Amino acid sequence: LGTRSSALTRTRTTCGYCGVGCALDVLTRDGEVTAVKPAHDGPVNRGHACVKGRFAHGFLRSPERLTRPLLRRGSRLEPVDWPEALDHVARGMRAAIAEAGPDTVAAISSARATNEENYLIQKFMRTVIGTNNVDNCSRLCHSPSAAGLTAAFGLSGGTDSFDDAEHADCLLVVGANPIEAHPVVGARLLQHVLRGARLVVADPRRVGLAEHADVHLRARPGTNVALFNGLAHVLLDEGLADLDFLRRRATGLAELTALLEDYPPGRVSEITGVPVPDLVAAARLYGRAERPAIIYGLGVTEHLHGTDGVRTLSNLAILRGAVGTGRGYGVNPLRGQNNVQGASDMGALPDLLPGYAAVGDPAARARAERVWGVPVPRTAGLRIPEMFAAARAGDLRVLWVVGEDVCATDPDTNLVVAALEACPLVVCQELFLSETARHADVVLPAASWLEKDGTFVNFDRRFQRVRPALSPPGQARTDFAIVQALAATLGADLGCPTPAAALAECGRVAPVFGGISHQRLDQEGALAWPCPDAGRPGTGKLYLDRFATADGLAHLAALPYLPPGESPDGDYPFILVTGRRWAHYNSGSMTRRTGNLRLDPADRIDVNPADAARHAVRDGDPVTVESRHGRATLNARITDETAPGQLFCAFHFPASRVNALTSGHADTVTSCPEYKVTAVRLSPGGPP
Ligand code: SF4
Repeated sequence: LGTRSSALTRTRTTCGYCGVGCALDVLTRDGEVTAVKPAHDGPVNRGHACVKGRFAHGFLRSPERLTRPLLRRGSRLEPVDWPEALDHVARGMRAAIAEAGPDTVAAISSARATNEENYLIQKFMRTVIGTNNVDNCSRLCHSPSAAGLTAAFGLSGGTDSFDDAEHADCLLVVGANPIEAHPVVGARLLQHVLRGARLVVADPRRVGLAEHADVHLRARPGTNVALFNGLAHVLLDEGLADLDFLRRRATGLAELTALLEDYPPGRVSEITGVPVPDLVAAARLYGRAERPAIIYGLGVTEHLHGTDGVRTLSNLAILRGAVGTGRGYGVNPLRGQNNVQGASDMGALPDLLPGYAAVGDPAARARAERVWGVPVPRTAGLRIPEMFAAARAGDLRVLWVVGEDVCATDPDTNLVVAALEACPLVVCQELFLSETARHADVVLPAASWLEKDGTFVNFDRRFQRVRPALSPPGQARTDFAIVQALAATLGADLGCPTPAAALAECGRVAPVFGGISHQRLDQEGALAWPCPDAGRPGTGKLYLDRFATADGLAHLAALPYLPPGESPDGDYPFILVTGRRWAHYNSGSMTRRTGNLRLDPADRIDVNPADAARHAVRDGDPVTVESRHGRATLNARITDETAPGQLFCAFHFPASRVNALTSGHADTVTSCPEYKVTAVRLSPGGPP
């Protein structure tokens, strides 16, 4: 007769891969996922999902999942029970604090983790350890968006609900490849273009959307600020600016007008390589549109002057009066990871408390102290690159890395590894024995997004529920449970017994989230912040009355073009740009352990056919790529998607060591690495 299997269970949750935030129905039976279905009533995905969210769940039952804590004994990581692992971590933290002070302990929180987990981690660091040394991987992707959008408009998030993008009559998509990296957004944008919207794509690569663009601006990597200043010059020169809006709601026009004298199309063309007619045509399309939209990605932020890029791109929307007016779809970043917006919203940042309140602001500290009952440290903590530098200098005693494979994803891998090796106690919370976990002293087995309760915030500021479809395997625990247990081992009580209680408490520390609760989300599906009280529906489109800056005005920025950290030369004649491919996700720790591996089995490096011919490289051949920082060997993919003189590759496979190539150059404002411009050379063949 066989064994009768249990009933099918359907769990509504939010995708744990990219920042689009697709609502998914996960079907499980007998503790196994049988199918993942995109939710037809999902507010962002409306019945769609991509190859990652829909099919990449096989990693859950991978035999490589970590199921017990591991403790380093000599050169080996050996299984131990939770009390022994937590005691070891707690002893190390206590000793570091006693001998050298709380600022010798640091934590890298996780964009993969829920809001509630991020809230708890930053609260642990601030109230139990007594330091602001907590950061998250938005440092490496959209920290320039946070700084740039806050300076221009007042809040650290996109200016509109994505629904508004489908009312735009002209889309300006900059430094983003949504067809591969945010596929559901890419599909919705493409559908909108096929319905008649005009499209300008600004990207050095011939990305998927560029096939459908009216104008494709292929500016040289690292020249965004010149490009955006050039577009602004044409807007003003041709009378396409909204002078009434500028008079009433913006500031900085005189300074910007003076600066733009230096950015006529001819000079901008020399800097960027964009032909003058294309530049002018793009400016006219955007400038003459009734409802223009700006959507951008990491091609704007991951630069030495990434924040300047966000500011000068924002200038275009301000000049057109296309932000905060109900007309147009202002300036909207496509956030990379599932909860990178939320990790920052929750205050997992060294200078900002939950809700982006500065740690240097006595009133903000006092509000948090009233809720937490202990003093909040006053001085900003270390950013991620500063943590690594401090470790290499012997100034960091404990580094706690939650759900990030920094050895695979952070730039200049050799320096990251040197930091981990120099730090006396490295604690890593992970699903798998990642490259980073291999360097850890303690490895704590964590739960995945399909095994957790909480919320994520997607790219257009929507809180959505995350619900467990399965239990974690073996002794693996949620990050929420691990932080609680570590606090208890140190004799502290973080409060917040449940994720729902943590979000409720966060709303008291950060009133901007005060109206958002698990209960409301269970009833209403999604709520965009700001949402200060339970009687309000959340805010999709921002700034309709006033901007959130101190003076209530949008701020134009007069910023000159400055060259990138590295430029091609005789020794390193190519520019390497890194990014993502459609089947995999970031370090690939999950997607490589699924059927998606068959779709894309290895990292490849894109080489333009002209460069390939000159170097006698054929499709599939191994090539060696060298920068001033390191060397990697990959197989070539010959394609004119990449311009002559440029190379492109992803970093989904640790074995390819792509980030051994990337440099330590970083945004001068936020320390976001310049992943988009590394000078390299190429030679056929692998290592000798
Ligand atoms: Fe998940 Fe992003 Fe794909 Fe949606 S588009 S299913 S959020 S990876």
